[in-house]
Order: sequence, then C-alpha cells, then structure tokens
Amino acid sequence: MKLGRIKHRATIIAESGLIDVERASKGRFPSDLDDLIPQLAAVMSWFESERPAVTDPRTQAELEADLSQLDAPLLRPRQIFAVGINYRGHADEVDLALPPSPMIFTKFASSLTGPGSTIVLPPGTVDWEVELVAVIGQGGRNIAPETALSHVGAYCVGQDLSERTHQMACSPAQFSMAKSHRGFAPIGPWLTTADELDNPQDLAIACDLDGEVMQSARTSMMLFDLPTQIAYLSSICELYPGDLIFTGTPAGVGLSHQPPRFIRPGEVLHSRIEKLGALRNPFVQGSAGG
Ligand code: ZN
Repeated sequence: MKLGRIKHRATIIAESGLIDVERASKGRFPSDLDDLIPQLAAVMSWFESERPAVTDPRTQAELEADLSQLDAPLLRPRQIFAVGINYRGHADEVDLALPPSPMIFTKFASSLTGPGSTIVLPPGTVDWEVELVAVIGQGGRNIAPETALSHVGAYCVGQDLSERTHQMACSPAQFSMAKSHRGFAPIGPWLTTADELDNPQDLAIACDLDGEVMQSARTSMMLFDLPTQIAYLSSICELYPGDLIFTGTPAGVGLSHQPPRFIRPGEVLHSRIEKLGALRNPFVQGSAGG
C-alpha cells in the first residue's frame, strides 16, 4: 500500500485512484498520517477486506508529474535518527575511518518537507545525501536483529541535506544542526508499506542534480544494515511508531568532488529509490541572513 499526505489528509494511492482514508473509512481512521501510523496494520487489513471506492480520480502518474501536490508524509515523528558513514565508498571519499558501531545523529523534525518542495538555500555550502528512510511501525526496546524488520511499517525516499561549512567548522564535526535547516529533510513521495518490498536491503538508490548523476548505488552496500541499526538504536532508545531512520548515504556527495561541488540556486535535485518513487526538489537563493 502507498500512503501519501495530500492537502493535509492521509490518502491511499491505489491503482484505480486516490482514497481519502478518513472519509472512506467513515471516521474509523484519522485523517492525519502521523496519527494513522500506530494503526497501520489495521488500515491495511481494512483496505484489503473493504476495497473502498476511489474518492479522487487522480492517478499516481499525475501526482508524480507534479510532486508539489504531496506534503511530507510524516511531520511529527517523535524521533528522527540518521546514520553517518554507513557506506564504504562514502567513508573513503570523506576520508573517515569506518565506525565500529553505527554512528548516529539526529535531524530535527522541523526540517521535514515534501517531495516536491522548493528549498531555500541558507548561507554556506549545501550538499546532497540520498538515503533510504525506514518508518517504525511497531516500537520497542532491545529489538533483536532477527525480528527487527518486522518493526518497520513503511519505507520512503529521503534527502539528508547538509550545510557543510557549519558542519565542518566545528571539531569534531557537528551534524545535527548543519543538517536541520528548514527544508533539509525532504521525504516521500509517499510511504510504501513494508509488505511491498521483498528485500529493502537490495534496492537501487540514486540522485542527480540538474540531470547529472551524482550518487548511484544499492542499499546492499550499507556497512550496518537496517536490522543492525534497529537493534543498536533500540538497545539505547525506545523506538516509537512513526520514528524515522535515515539509513546513510552512498558515495558521491558534493563535498568529495574536486573541487567540491555544492547546490546552486535554480538547480533541481532528483532523488530516487527503486520501488519507492522519487523526490524532485528545486532550490532557490535565500535572502541575506538566510
Ligand atoms: Zn546522511
């Protein structure tokens, strides 16, 4: 099942069209997608058994043609985790040692934005990092790696946008603030429930800037796979439904170019993952002071 947020309302994107979950279920389920996540399994079985009628004839292709029709699927996760240095090629290009355990930072929820949003460039140097994002469906503590993927409710595409000047000005580098400017966490284009993926750990992942391919890899190239990440995180923090995990970025970030290459006003960043869809975010110059 694909679940998007359209005009603030949780919407199933089906083969035949769009289905407003709250209206089609006659109020059984909430209209807000953040509120819906703890009931995701119930929504899926309702959809399978009731086969609700389409409430909007627009197609998935029409949404894809103008992604600004979609908001960020989730806006109020209790926690957003992100994994640094989690693909060998990326560790090499930024000249950092491979971490002995997952290297975790956070992106703050106020940086979430939609799959087609225009993003204002703050002062500094803004870089791209396409990432597979896992949405926790069922929370818990001390989750075993063997059962970890059953705690994932859905997946989507994410960008861990990063302002490198501020990030690298501190020693050691500081991540969370440099990666949490307004609009620095576009996600979407919708949530794809976990049952639709045979193997989230073997998906093509790529991004291009104005048509030039910058990153192209497979999620099989992660150093710490998603079960390991979930086991590690939940050994310290309780995980809650709706929490997001940005699972790390492959090689090809702008910082590693010679000379470094950062996002310029007017450019469009296209980020995509096999079976999950794509984000298409244009960038504009911010006013002085950001
Ligand atoms: Zn990242």
